[in-house]
Amino acid sequence: MNLFASLPLLPALREAIDAAGYTEPTAVQAETLPAILAGRDVIAQAPTGSGKTAAFGLGLLQRLDVGGVRTQALVLCPTRELADQVAREVRRLAMAIPNVKLLLLTGGVPLGPQLASLTHAPHIVVGTPGRVADLLRRQALSAADIATLVLDEADRMLDMGFEEILEEIIGQLPRERQTLLFSATWPESVRQIARAALRSPLEVSVEGAVSQPEIAQWFHEVDTRDKPAALAALLQRHQPASTVVFCNTRDDADTLCDALQIKGFATAALHGKLEQRERDEVLIRFANGSLNVLVASDVAARGLDVKALACVVNYELPGDPDVYVHRIGRTARAGNTGLALSLVAAREMPRALRLGEHLGMPLPWAKIPPADGDAAPIPRAEMRTLRIEGGRSDKLRPGDLLGALTGEAGLAAQHIGKIDILATRAFVAVHREQADRALKALQAGKIKGRRFRVRKL
Ligand code: AMP
Repeated sequence: MNLFASLPLLPALREAIDAAGYTEPTAVQAETLPAILAGRDVIAQAPTGSGKTAAFGLGLLQRLDVGGVRTQALVLCPTRELADQVAREVRRLAMAIPNVKLLLLTGGVPLGPQLASLTHAPHIVVGTPGRVADLLRRQALSAADIATLVLDEADRMLDMGFEEILEEIIGQLPRERQTLLFSATWPESVRQIARAALRSPLEVSVEGAVSQPEIAQWFHEVDTRDKPAALAALLQRHQPASTVVFCNTRDDADTLCDALQIKGFATAALHGKLEQRERDEVLIRFANGSLNVLVASDVAARGLDVKALACVVNYELPGDPDVYVHRIGRTARAGNTGLALSLVAAREMPRALRLGEHLGMPLPWAKIPPADGDAAPIPRAEMRTLRIEGGRSDKLRPGDLLGALTGEAGLAAQHIGKIDILATRAFVAVHREQADRALKALQAGKIKGRRFRVRKL
């Protein structure tokens, strides 16, 4: 029996759940939805990938009065990328409810357009604390009718120093409201804000990602200086379609990324020192299959859209076992099996011991496969990305690029992948074998009657 059927959900939400292909609720949904739909406050310890977004998304949509032009739900997330991901999932669940207006209000983008959009109050705001507080102070956004507050990845928000801003925002909300708090870990700072912001909440703890059998975890003892070669050998052995390698420092990330590139891996580094523009580009190329290995720091990887992440690597063990759990929870999301590989140098052994105690299991150790002539080939990225120097501000739409490529250029639609249009740039993924042909065609021809600069990345 489909357990969703036993919940008192609006027909439009049932329809969206069917359309999304969710046949059964995830554990966190099964445990929290009855309380959420009954209007109760809930705190859930739920890692990324547990389906928590749909749990609170369904809750806030169920209570929405679309007829009222008032902001009724506020979702706060630690980063722009995460907010973007949440907004997408909530929009997807709202698809069968006509006229729902959701606004994404995050920092890092100009304030002007956000102020303009706020002249008509959105029903739902998904945003980051700094920008939301700013808009409340300017009275561009009204807190008066907010009936649902969601604090998503509360631990991360507090880690990032948002505590005071959160208190400021929460202080302006109506006392009569539903508050839902989600957090992967449960430090005292989170408990404190939960005590202050929630009223006799239902507390739910979903089994940590670690105890889910679908993540295969392997630990490898390797000298620090042999780690790049060891990682290459492991990726050749396992051939994951997409991998995020977590490094503890930016220098490690850069050095490793160079070493993997020399070996022929399609890889890029993602860390805090990148400009937003470069960061967007790396994330797009990873999501569209043009890069298959992303070397990242924990901070930079937050909010990464990782629906199909096949493998997570700990290039070095993190000092905090919760960070390990959080990292590996990014693979094996809803239904997929995952792989988590860790490289451990002798001096990291005390961390490995602590981790084993935290996980309550002996760590499974494995040997690095020999890099001999029988080694499998370097896993290749299926796609390449073409960057077009034109975007939304040139009124470019995905159909225009698709048309230009399948029309005169004569590419088959199945060789064209994801198309991302940003304000002034657009990215189209093209099958590796067809990339040069597509590049030439776009450089020689016109898109929407205009010529644009195009580059292969
Ligand atoms: P989250 O933990 O919210 O980041 O969700 C992880 C992924 O699981 C997202 O890609 C969702 O689309 C997906 N998902 C959420 N609920 C379900 C469900 N009941 N069945 C299958 N997939 C789901």
